[in-house]
Amino acid sequence: MNLTHIEHIGIAVNSLEESIPFYEKVLGLKCYAIEEVKDQKVKTAFFKIGDTKLELLESTDPEGPIGRFIKKRGQGLHHLAFAVQDIGTALREAEQKGIELIDKNPRKGAEGLDIAFLHPWSTFGVLTEFCEKK
Ligand code: ZN
Repeated sequence: MNLTHIEHIGIAVNSLEESIPFYEKVLGLKCYAIEEVKDQKVKTAFFKIGDTKLELLESTDPEGPIGRFIKKRGQGLHHLAFAVQDIGTALREAEQKGIELIDKNPRKGAEGLDIAFLHPWSTFGVLTEFCEKK
């Protein structure tokens, strides 16, 4: 498995509109993209800091994954995403080492990346994502 850097950190928020000004006006970052990912029932806003991005996630459906997360645990850190060189190999290696996968096969995430999640049951509570830039 070849992780190259932290691709992004996912943060669940009630509202992009309300949270973006903190990142822009207080932290001085710039929101460079807002994108809806329909199959995840979220709207995302992206900021870049070095090689890493912050991904704010606003739910578009209370029954979607982010909607349910916020209902249960409130706003805050949601997942950690690692950039990998070969996502297919990384998933197979993780599975062979006994890690439970949420996504057995990569799917398309925001920004056209191939992504897949590992189950937090197997990763000490951290929802872990692999991303490969195609
Ligand atoms: Zn993510």
